[in-house]
Amino acid sequence: MHPMPLEPDRATMTEMGRLVLDRIVDRTARLADRPATSPLPPRAEADLVESFLAPPPDRGGDLRTLLARLDEAADCALETAGPGHLAYIPCSGLYSAALAEFYNRAVNRYGGLASVAPALAALEESVIRWMAREVCGLGEGSGGLLTSGGSMATFSATVAARHHRLGEDLTGGTVYTTAFAHHSVAKAARLAGIRAAHIRTVPHTPDLRMDPDAAAAAIRADRAAGLRPFLLVATAGTTDTGTVDPLPELAALARREDVWFHVDAAYGGFFRLTARGRDRLAGIEEADSVTLDPHKTLFLPFGTGALVVRDPAALHAAHDGTGSYLQDMRTAADVPDSARLGPELTHEIRGLRAWLPLHLHGVAAFREALDEKLDLAAHVHDTLSGVTALEVPHRPDLSTVIFRVRPADTGPAAAARADDASRRLLERINAHRRVVLSSTAVDGRYTLRLCVVSHRTHHDRVTEALEIIAAEVKGLAAT
Ligand SMILES: *Cc1c(COP(=O)(O)O)cnc(C)c1O
Repeated sequence: MHPMPLEPDRATMTEMGRLVLDRIVDRTARLADRPATSPLPPRAEADLVESFLAPPPDRGGDLRTLLARLDEAADCALETAGPGHLAYIPCSGLYSAALAEFYNRAVNRYGGLASVAPALAALEESVIRWMAREVCGLGEGSGGLLTSGGSMATFSATVAARHHRLGEDLTGGTVYTTAFAHHSVAKAARLAGIRAAHIRTVPHTPDLRMDPDAAAAAIRADRAAGLRPFLLVATAGTTDTGTVDPLPELAALARREDVWFHVDAAYGGFFRLTARGRDRLAGIEEADSVTLDPHKTLFLPFGTGALVVRDPAALHAAHDGTGSYLQDMRTAADVPDSARLGPELTHEIRGLRAWLPLHLHGVAAFREALDEKLDLAAHVHDTLSGVTALEVPHRPDLSTVIFRVRPADTGPAAAARADDASRRLLERINAHRRVVLSSTAVDGRYTLRLCVVSHRTHHDRVTEALEIIAAEVKGLAAT
């Protein structure tokens, strides 16, 4: 057999493409029947992992065989693309986005500087403007950049805020957020040169929202002590519970105290497309910057985040840079160079994998899908609230429902026994492999969470999840 040339002929390209396409269509059609978690026994999994650590051969192999190997690797995983994935924040991945990405990677246009592929840069800018202006309501003149995910978006927002408010001297710069903020907020602050000791955890109210009075007090106390408060980070949809911080109050506080107001809406942001989400995320339009994660609630493939900002000049001021080897580049008229707004220079046209699905399915399809998730979460909340053995402490703001085994008694010993029972409950639910839920800690209690985001999760799977939970709560009581 001849090894595959680096540039195959037309017939070979078509044949290669068909092999991949057939597998993808087949895999996608089987998603609903696939187990929600890896079905391999630990020994087999370890062997498979070991086999994939091998270096590449000098002479190439056969595509069909390699694809079969890839399928084995992809099957040995949490089924993140399937309808039973109700853990963490599900990221499902649209088929249309995968096709967009195939096109994107094959034409391989340069996405760092707008003048290299100006129309594709404009396409990307249209996606960013839509997110900044229509989704977040940041107004005319707002913009931003697509990133590889929410963590990178929050990092660039933090760097921009720091540059804008502190300048070159970072001494005493302090940041304010809550215990329910995603860990990427503190990580971004540390990477941006802020001392870990200056990242403040503002107390939350009993409904798990940042307490604006406590935030105000913390900012004033720090300022009185000679520190330099510069950034307030609210969350619009916490990863733990989907809770939205009181954005209007926090926006007003940030304005009063002259600190940058960032909203981490990695999970919650796109719910603004729905009427209920618009209500619950009111105030986001007053942010200086917002993190969005299209790879979560826009159902795009992993590696798609966004940072939108009221004033792109602040991003530009913090991230601009150039070199003499770039002196031939024109600056495009209306479309910014993404490389001047973030840390990366060379990257793909990231907007394509959002643009094609948005134009192909239309925004209404996304609005309807997200509305369906809100309905499903409300249904889960109402149903679980009727199970007396469970505590369902909060009505969801978005599409995450938290619950745990109700303690038999008051006091720490009963709470510890209930936590242990909750832990076993999660194992029993996930052992069915029809759905996968995850857990977190809320105010010191072990808490299960069910998060509905996937565009493939509908009423049937949620009903099945509720039946499994009810049966396992009964099973637990019997042990
Ligand atoms: C997922 C998430 C992040 C992190 O985003 P990545 O895309 O994983 O980097 C940040 N904040 C919130 C609220 C999230 O849910």
